[in-house]
Amino acid sequence: LKEKLYLGMDFGTSGARYALIDKHGNIHSQGKREYPSPHMSGNTMDWAGSWKITLFTLLEDVPVNLRGFVSSISIDGTSATTIIIDSNTGDPLCRPFIYNETFPDALTRVNSIAPANHTVCSGSSTLCKLVSWWNLHHSDKDSAILLHQADWLLWLLHGKLGISDYNNALKVGYDPEINSYPKWLVSQPYSHMLPSVIAPGTSVGSMKEDVRVQFGFPKECVICTGTTDSIAAFLAACATQPGKAVTSLGSTLVVKLLSTRRVDDSRYGVYSHRLDDRWLVGGASNTGGAVLRQIFTDDQLGKLSQQIDPKRSSPHDYYPLPAVGERFPVADPEMAPKLHPRPVNDAEYLHGILESIARIEAKAYGLLKDLGATPVEEVFTAGGGAKNEKWTKIRERVLNLPVRQALQTEAAYGAALLALKGAPA
Ligand code: ADP
Repeated sequence: LKEKLYLGMDFGTSGARYALIDKHGNIHSQGKREYPSPHMSGNTMDWAGSWKITLFTLLEDVPVNLRGFVSSISIDGTSATTIIIDSNTGDPLCRPFIYNETFPDALTRVNSIAPANHTVCSGSSTLCKLVSWWNLHHSDKDSAILLHQADWLLWLLHGKLGISDYNNALKVGYDPEINSYPKWLVSQPYSHMLPSVIAPGTSVGSMKEDVRVQFGFPKECVICTGTTDSIAAFLAACATQPGKAVTSLGSTLVVKLLSTRRVDDSRYGVYSHRLDDRWLVGGASNTGGAVLRQIFTDDQLGKLSQQIDPKRSSPHDYYPLPAVGERFPVADPEMAPKLHPRPVNDAEYLHGILESIARIEAKAYGLLKDLGATPVEEVFTAGGGAKNEKWTKIRERVLNLPVRQALQTEAAYGAALLALKGAPA
């Protein structure tokens, strides 16, 4: 083998994965590791230590005979997972703030400085985490610097402090349209803590010599900026033209559409990430597989689906939700699930539910178009529902679009594509 290879790593909610690809996108090696349970450090869980161990375990998992061909490495992490470190030593100044942790104390303050309905105006945003830390800590403020999970893991590999990408930095307030932090943020006393921001998949520099030698990566190997886990999963599907979309049918229904125009609407929780000169517009409905699991086992789902004729339209009109409340494509926190009347025949019931979810998906893409996004032309599917061929056929009929299962759906594969993008020619 003389070919160059590109390594992507994904740090998700419960574990991490890697994928090693060539320039054609073929996978040469892949693997995963659960995070070791973090040990207690003081009163808190040392998650950072656990991620660090996993990073080096994954590097060791890459077959020795392939490491010498690795041209570049990139990493994605969970969005809004934040680490505050000392810029002199690189040591964390406190435990990491995990993606879904909320900081209501900081939200009031953030609401008062940010424009109404900005992405940072959510208790779990990176900016709320930063403001909460700033208000509660009194020492080390001058030398403190903020990094996202992916930035920090990449720093362990390249050693240059204070670098992020514009996908991870969106929830701290970075504006990818003007390529800078907005004025209202730069004027804050903690603005020196904000990392500098470059495009995802940009080479930051060589791998640190000690790490490189320890694992046997080549001298030319560069480390590239990463992205968030959900964007990496979108990249994996290779939906590279405006109008191409990925619907994820997991516990919830998430749509992501590549658009030439940026669309943001906080009423529906719709916002856009930049991808080079395009925008990745996304929205998430509470409908999806979680409701199916409340009613059927996965085994029943498979068997009952076999009995469905996807060409026939179901007379049942439901709005399947696991609990009260919907945000997108209908913004109504009081909305009640509608799953009645239930026909005696279970296959008929499932048909009605699958078709109703397909209508919600159609409405979701319709709303994105009404808000100004590029109209959807083709849908790739990821998640547990993607394997259901009957559902795919129902969705093709209801969406009136080609629908296909995505060939690759692992975020690690998307991160490997970013490594490929940033590799030296
Ligand atoms: P997540 O990672 O969001 O929890 P997954 O992508 O693993 O979810 O998908 C799990 C979901 O897939 C479950 O909620 C389940 O209802 C759904 N699912 C499993 N099998 C099928 C099937 N044959 N048809 C439709 N949905 C299915």
